[in-house]
Amino acid sequence: MSKTKGYAAPTSKAPLAPYSFERRDPRDHDVVIDIKYCGICHSDIHQTRNEWGDYLEESIFPMVPGHEIAGVVTSVGSKVTKYKPGDKVGVGCFVDSCRTCTECKRDLEQYCSVHTTFTYNSRDNDGKPTYGGYSESVVVDENYVLRMPDNLPLDACAPLLCAGITLYSPLKHWQAGPGKKVAIVGMGGLGHMGVKLAHALGAEVTVLSQSLKKKDDGKRLGADHFYATSDPETFTKLKRYFDLIINTVSAEMDWNEYFNLLKVDGSLVVVGIPEKKIPIGAMGLATGRRSLAGSSIGGIKETQEMLDFCGRHKIASDIEVIPIQKVNEAYERVQKSDVRYRFVIDMASLKNS
Ligand code: NAP
Ligand code: ZN
Repeated sequence: MSKTKGYAAPTSKAPLAPYSFERRDPRDHDVVIDIKYCGICHSDIHQTRNEWGDYLEESIFPMVPGHEIAGVVTSVGSKVTKYKPGDKVGVGCFVDSCRTCTECKRDLEQYCSVHTTFTYNSRDNDGKPTYGGYSESVVVDENYVLRMPDNLPLDACAPLLCAGITLYSPLKHWQAGPGKKVAIVGMGGLGHMGVKLAHALGAEVTVLSQSLKKKDDGKRLGADHFYATSDPETFTKLKRYFDLIINTVSAEMDWNEYFNLLKVDGSLVVVGIPEKKIPIGAMGLATGRRSLAGSSIGGIKETQEMLDFCGRHKIASDIEVIPIQKVNEAYERVQKSDVRYRFVIDMASLKNS
């Protein structure tokens, strides 16, 4: 076992603070990663504050969050073939799965029917809690490690490991591309990656944001159109306009208004996960043969495909790099939608705590 420094939430009510814990000794197939950067995802906030009590078991505390991990390999187990010391690698939202069920065999480990071991707030095969990327190092099986784009800055690529794949996967699944009209609801961490990726895939992209404050940024990131959802006109103008709407918002909203923006056979895909269950009016769905669907991150194979796509298209996240000592302040700002567009923690700052 090796002692590792990090930041943890001691309970759902207390701020994050320095915390020391142990990482396992590397096994034959393990890769030891020196963490350079870790993105702050809104899911980190939901989980440290135990906001998903309606869906999940109680969060596990103390919790070291972080599932947008970018770093460099320092050593590898004796049977590792995919990585070597010095490689730039990433770890996303999960670090293991059963590997044998139908879903794992289809490269959909995030939907493993036995147990997906999430990067934090989860338990590994020995029943021990997992600890995430707000820490100096991590030990992960090589089959759950990703190769980062060589031509892009590592800090700006960290958010691809959750925000990037969470949007790439539904965009691909629902075939966003030339001739398709796609709306991204909410331009935060996930949403801004959705705009960049949908644009690179060749779709016509519209942002539906609370206000027009981010309009210039939206256009710069690749949006063709930008509308405020606070303006009732938006919902009349865009009636039956979209093939695909991806909703990244986790606040309360009137879902039924969004069904009406879909063409016949259009799909509204949920990726934002609100605290409370959502009220759905059946009429808006039935009268347009519309679909309401959901999507969760992406499998390892698709995540690597997304990272390679981002390398080719020079797509990374728009980030604000912070020292780990500012993590609690960053959480407050994310909750106020005051981030352009992802906070990334520079893990070198840990030595000052
Ligand atoms: P974020 O950076 O906070 O972005 C959320 C955006 O939602 C905000 O930037 C804002 O965009 C909009 N928004 C915020 N408050 C709102 C309100 N009261 N009414 C309407 N819109 C509001 O969060 P994120 O990291 O992108 O994560 C978004 C959600 O996705 C979270 O629930 C997270 O847990 C979930 N998530 C899901 C998956 C998955 O696999 N399904 C993966 C990662 C995260 P505008 O200012 O443009 O309106
Ligand atoms: Zn996330």
